[in-house]
Amino acid sequence: MKAAILGATGLVGQRFVQLLNDHEWFEISALTGSERSAGGEYGDAVNWRMDTALKRKVAELTVQPTDPRQVDADVVFSALPAEQALEVEESFAKNGFVVVSNASSHRMDPDVPLMNPEANFVHLSLIDDQRRKRKWDGAIVTNPNCTTAVLTLSLKPIAADFGLRNIVVSSMQAASGAGYPGVASLDIIDNVIPFINGEEEKVQKETQKILGEPGRPARFNVSASCHRVAVIDGHTEAVFVQTEKTASPDEIVHCMQEFMAEPQKRKLPTAPDHPIVVKMEKDRPQPRFDRNEGHGMSVVVGRVRSDPVFSGVKYVVLGHNTVRGAAGCAILIAESMKSQGYL
Ligand code: NAP
Repeated sequence: MKAAILGATGLVGQRFVQLLNDHEWFEISALTGSERSAGGEYGDAVNWRMDTALKRKVAELTVQPTDPRQVDADVVFSALPAEQALEVEESFAKNGFVVVSNASSHRMDPDVPLMNPEANFVHLSLIDDQRRKRKWDGAIVTNPNCTTAVLTLSLKPIAADFGLRNIVVSSMQAASGAGYPGVASLDIIDNVIPFINGEEEKVQKETQKILGEPGRPARFNVSASCHRVAVIDGHTEAVFVQTEKTASPDEIVHCMQEFMAEPQKRKLPTAPDHPIVVKMEKDRPQPRFDRNEGHGMSVVVGRVRSDPVFSGVKYVVLGHNTVRGAAGCAILIAESMKSQGYL
């Protein structure tokens, strides 16, 4: 199937290019950018920041304007900034394209599936409502904010087995989460920045939407505190959970280790064998050692222990923010849609 990438020169766009290079089902058919890069060759327009070489075939593609009339594709991956994504993605969907987006613009629309496939595969059914309501043949489906993607994957088996009542999460987020060039080096080196605009609200609302029923957000409470740290890739989160039914740390470890979901059962190409990897060493997970677990699609949990304040559990979870938290998740969503007949 032909795949286009909107905003292909940015950090998430580059991660799409890297992950789609040898994909079994999707082949890159179009790359788009802003006026700054449209018309030139991708290899000249992009400041390639990935740690694998850019293939010549892709480097020689001409960057197209981000316009549905200029794009030929069966699926469109969007890595546009939210301000641009709002209208552009709608115009693609109106023109019959299926758009899988990283941008936040449409995530909270009630008829737009906000997907982390292992956590809420059934939410794909919202596409039928969306097509009826908006009278278009295309679709907009979104992936979560990067911190939410890591958090909700770790919470899913706990929600299923014990129920969730209250969640507190404190994040330590990588610099690449701010795109390229992102945070100025003089702001982030030797420093922690205790504010990321709009992030805490996104984590709180998106977690309830993803772990709820389609069209009915979950009722548990979420409180997030988000911080930018001097790490290149990999968001780390300290999570404190009060469950509905009492759960011991051993029971939580067990349910996480046993967890597998629809993408694993369907053997989708980007689905990791183990969506949650639990490390028993007392000083893991760490971004440098653990962010590429499951090719960046697994989240790594450690330090599962009792929480005396909540009479619940607390743990640390780490995930790759531009793979599980962005491009990899979007590709898994597209694979889920194909396997469910939406592509
Ligand atoms: P980025 O590095 O700043 O890249 C932005 C991309 O959008 C570039 O390709 C840029 O093209 C293009 N663009 C900018 N203005 C445009 C316009 N007017 N028309 C068409 N294209 C335009 O940002 P990023 O980190 O890749 O993030 C992309 C999206 O993913 C954002 O919505 C972000 O919130 C979301 N996201 C990011 C992460 C992460 O970890 N970084 C995680 C989850 C979600 P030119 O280079 O040609 O200007």
